[in-house]
Amino acid sequence: MSRFQPLNFYQRSPSRPSGYALLPFRFEALDDDEVVLSNMVGEFALLKRDKLRALVNHELAADDVDYARLRARHMLREPGDEAPVELLALKTRTRMAHLAAFTNLHIFVVSLRCDHSCQYCQVSRQSEDKARFDMSRETADKALDLMFRSPNRALKLEFQGGEPLLNFELIRYVVEQAEQRNASQGRDLRKVITTTLSLATDEMLRYCRDHDIHLSSSLDGPEDLHNKNRPRPGRDSHARFVDGLARARAIIGRDAVAALMTTSAASLPRVRDIIDEYVRLEFDGIFLRHLSPYGFALKTKSYQAYDSERWLDFYKEGLAYILELNRAGVPFREYYASILLTKMLTVRDPNFVDLSNPSGAGISAIVFNYDGDVYASDEARMLKEMGDATFCLGNVHTSSYEDIFTNEALLGALEDSFTLSAPGCSDCAIEPWCGADPVFHHGMTGDMLGRKPESAFCRRQMGVAKHLLRLMRDDPSARELFEGWVGTC
Ligand code: SF4
Repeated sequence: MSRFQPLNFYQRSPSRPSGYALLPFRFEALDDDEVVLSNMVGEFALLKRDKLRALVNHELAADDVDYARLRARHMLREPGDEAPVELLALKTRTRMAHLAAFTNLHIFVVSLRCDHSCQYCQVSRQSEDKARFDMSRETADKALDLMFRSPNRALKLEFQGGEPLLNFELIRYVVEQAEQRNASQGRDLRKVITTTLSLATDEMLRYCRDHDIHLSSSLDGPEDLHNKNRPRPGRDSHARFVDGLARARAIIGRDAVAALMTTSAASLPRVRDIIDEYVRLEFDGIFLRHLSPYGFALKTKSYQAYDSERWLDFYKEGLAYILELNRAGVPFREYYASILLTKMLTVRDPNFVDLSNPSGAGISAIVFNYDGDVYASDEARMLKEMGDATFCLGNVHTSSYEDIFTNEALLGALEDSFTLSAPGCSDCAIEPWCGADPVFHHGMTGDMLGRKPESAFCRRQMGVAKHLLRLMRDDPSARELFEGWVGTC
């Protein structure tokens, strides 16, 4: 018996009463009674199961309330309708357009030294006095050569560590070299330092102001929680952050400092406190991030302290609280939801490296380690620290641009994890809002693709996407607030 109906079954059929043809879509159960349909550009519609049956059997009446909606969302088309196919093709091209630009984010790991000793740290940090874990000028020069080979008109230079401010001399050198090279090229050059702010002096901040450098910092919540998560001598990480934040805002500018949080086991019962702290310190949003299974997080087993279900409960409670704050007039967003909602509710793709397809590894972002090794992503660098060099693409001193970006490990990872053809993802209705994460899956299972039913990445994506869909279905005011987050109203 054939597994599929003949082709004409799926094509428009003038002999059937309504004569519509199905456009490509996938569906996924939202609950017992309802499914979500999505197409490859991320448009979606919720539908009762009996309506889905009628739709695919070409029995949905043209005057059915859902008919016009499905037609508008490009799930079906009527005889003679050519525009929907052209529109879908155009939107697909728009969504993928950033690929032609190639690598934007260039991460320079200027030092592995750090004054903190966070249990969940993703970097296998070194103690402060080991200067041999600093990047040299020679290595930085070679990395800059590679960065300026990128065809992208926009280049983002991000300094990471360890604590990059411990090698501020090199940051100054790289910034000035990059500005000098860019003087004749005129690219959109942006600069960011990822720092805890604990060692930020006014002189450093003035330098950042003068060279238009933004700061990406870390705040895990109120003082007790932050200090517990982020130990340093003196147990004063939070006080230093608050002081550094005030000075950075005063010197560089209000919007020049962002903050990221990481969810430790101790954070789980404290999501409201964490959000309150972000509001108190006048941030306009928060990224409720789960732990990544790399570096110290794995070594200290803090990654295993909670599973994706527990994180999802934490996340949902946080999201509900943020909506409550919004209703009380406090403007505040959750950034993970904002990324997914942008893909769901607009034609824009936020190009968030960790949620892109094909994976952003190497082609959206690249990492130059302190010793000149080049990695497909920050997580790939951490895997190497754990003894797995799969995603080490070369070394700035010995590899050419072509060697690095046509490295078989990189090309294989991108191809194997491409969600539009990957088993499990290719017929998943969440796919247009999801992304590929070959480094995570390789690290956890030894396979770039990973088995999706067992994948924590998949459970989180599926869990958050379905939660957002249900919220928008059950509460029109939530939908309105979400639209405000992504700028559609
Ligand atoms: S990772 Fe999971 S949620 Fe994402 S597209 Fe694949 S199957 Fe769907």
